[in-house]
Amino acid sequence: MSTDPTPADSGSAMAAVAVVQRVRAAQVGWALLSVAERVARLRQASAALLSQAEELAQLIVTETHKPLAESYSSEVLGVGDLFAYWCKYGPAQLEPRKGLIPSLEMPGKKAKVYRVPRGVVACISPWNYPVSLPMRTLVPALLAGNGVVLKPSEVTPRTGKWLIDRLHAVLGDIVGVVEGDGAAGAALVQAQPDLVVFTGSTRTGRKVAVACAERGIPCELELGGKDCAIVLDDCDIERTAAGVAWGILTNAGQNCSGIERVAVHKSIAHVFVPKLIAAMERAGRDVPELVTPMQRGIVSAQLADAIARGATVLTGGSVDADRPLAPILLTQVPTDAPAWTDESFGPIAVLAQGPDDEALIALANDSRYGLGASVWGGNPERALAVASKVKTGMVWINNHSFSGALPDLPWTGVGDSGTGVTNSPDALSHMTRPRLVVVDSSKAIEPWWYPYGDKMVDLMRILVARQQSGGLGATLRTLKALKARNAEMSK
Ligand code: NAD
Repeated sequence: MSTDPTPADSGSAMAAVAVVQRVRAAQVGWALLSVAERVARLRQASAALLSQAEELAQLIVTETHKPLAESYSSEVLGVGDLFAYWCKYGPAQLEPRKGLIPSLEMPGKKAKVYRVPRGVVACISPWNYPVSLPMRTLVPALLAGNGVVLKPSEVTPRTGKWLIDRLHAVLGDIVGVVEGDGAAGAALVQAQPDLVVFTGSTRTGRKVAVACAERGIPCELELGGKDCAIVLDDCDIERTAAGVAWGILTNAGQNCSGIERVAVHKSIAHVFVPKLIAAMERAGRDVPELVTPMQRGIVSAQLADAIARGATVLTGGSVDADRPLAPILLTQVPTDAPAWTDESFGPIAVLAQGPDDEALIALANDSRYGLGASVWGGNPERALAVASKVKTGMVWINNHSFSGALPDLPWTGVGDSGTGVTNSPDALSHMTRPRLVVVDSSKAIEPWWYPYGDKMVDLMRILVARQQSGGLGATLRTLKALKARNAEMSK
């Protein structure tokens, strides 16, 4: 959906500013609540959403064409899990920690590092998972004491609004929504939130990063992908074919970590490929139509280009405008063709063969993206060795992508897939800032204060020597040097 937004008109800019201001005002009181009080309010919000789960699941189906089963499995089910996880494990992650201060040369001091909320978090979301993606940010951000403004995709506006309306009914102005297209997203960034969590295409993410940099706003970017499944010659062929087919086709391939490339060991290709084709064809009506005509256009263009360059169509390939796209598997695709290099975001994958593990790893790493990858094989040590050489933020062995639904596990990429992390304590650490408080109850004049003198230089040299040798002798020499320095200062 990366079309250039028209510049934010004054109306949408004012609307975004008003929402951010309202949420900012509410955030002050929200941050003053204890974590336990915020947990209690979040549990109420969770109960309210879950009591309307069927309505939400149906709304997602209406806006995204997902099968109802997938609307539940990849969206609704995760809502309860997110609240349960963060309410149970988040408070410990927000506990202040004691900072270490060396007691010999800095006596009488205590340090504590608190995790404080950033303020207002702007969550700019895509349409492919209009509930589970924003909720990954909303729940921990709120728990940490932030307010959140959601900018849902213009392709799934009703789902985003539904979510915020229900949360607002329980939590009040601590949540808000800015509706509209890219211009509304740009206006939200201009409204100066304290953190932007952006999930979407690499192209838009770059623009958001520039806008944030110009305003000094930190941003987390979760961007596109071009995941590869590496199929080793000792894999369970039936299970691997079923898993790879699901990885290619779930949500009709409109999944940032959908499998778009398959690198298969040459020696099993003659058995594996027919099984994969059969598994893809079996998916049938569980693969919905693409959400936008633009996305269909991208897939059709990649297909036509690949065929023109000599690709072989192993299954699918009809782009009849009146029918949903049937799953497509291509082979003999040149590695500079868009079907190999660019995100497809549709029910299409390209397959290549390699003679050994190194060749398969090279195929997987032949991408500017680096979100996820999977390695399918029967020998865990070998599969782990292959996984360790794959340059992505996430690698699954004998599975693909499902961990996005698990709140404790980081979701993250490298390269053109962005710099962000959602889910997990790593994400929580971005939604807060460390605040250091040091209490000094020492009565002494510090040895590093003015006036400097010879004994201070001696002391510094002894401290450096102590870093090199350590031990009791070094400690005694330090004590002696400290004493001499104190005497020098009190002259
Ligand atoms: P998109 O980049 O077109 O839009 C994403 C959001 O950004 C939308 O809400 C849009 O209105 C908004 N936006 C557009 N221009 C903006 C601007 N200048 N400033 C601020 N906001 C702006 O992406 P999309 O088509 O909605 O989603 C598909 C893309 O998202 C794919 O590339 C997919 O891989 C990626 N994605 C990544 C992840 C991940 O976790 N890495 C997850 C889901 C989707």
